[in-house]
Amino acid sequence: MSKKSAFDTVHQQGSMGSKIVVALERISEAFRVLLWNEGKAEGLSPLQVQFLIFLLHHPDGEKRKVGHLAAEFNMTKATVSDAVKTLLSKGLVVKMPDPADQRSFSLALTAEGGALASRASHFSSEIQTPIEQLSEDDQANLLLHLLGIIKHLNRAGVITVQRMCYNCAHYRIQGSGHFCQLMNTPLQASELRVDCPEHEVVIG
Ligand code: SF4
Repeated sequence: MSKKSAFDTVHQQGSMGSKIVVALERISEAFRVLLWNEGKAEGLSPLQVQFLIFLLHHPDGEKRKVGHLAAEFNMTKATVSDAVKTLLSKGLVVKMPDPADQRSFSLALTAEGGALASRASHFSSEIQTPIEQLSEDDQANLLLHLLGIIKHLNRAGVITVQRMCYNCAHYRIQGSGHFCQLMNTPLQASELRVDCPEHEVVIG
């Protein structure tokens, strides 16, 4: 690993890796700004907007509990609980008791929360536009490399919950390609998933 910071502007000019890291940081800034823009009219933080979008697209009750949201977004339960309190007070989500455990509950969007989440879930369209202007091959290569970076960050313990092919119990390398045992089918690079509803955690 280089000892110089990627953000050292002199060192950066001779280091492609550093320029890529800085470029990714700029893109993460764009996500933050776009989420702020989405939430500010409603007085919501970027995190609260992300929760609403997550709830909209993940119907599994276990994923809609405070504990899971904390793991998913790499936050403490206390931080998530605070953010959820605002969503509850604004009538954007409601608590759904868990019949198997009286102390536990999952979150459900109200009609108003669902409408807001639906609108907000397009927040990243300006980021998607230039990506979709790339050729199919370039998009597939970009996806492969990004999945590789996420896999590394996951293994290094930087980001926890991941539901992508590379860390799924059903994923195999077959020959020089990718294979999903659950669907019993080879996967082209473009078919690798980042957030798969059928993903299963590797045990052990
Ligand atoms: S179940 Fe989903 S995440 Fe797992 S290998 Fe198949 S497509 Fe990939």
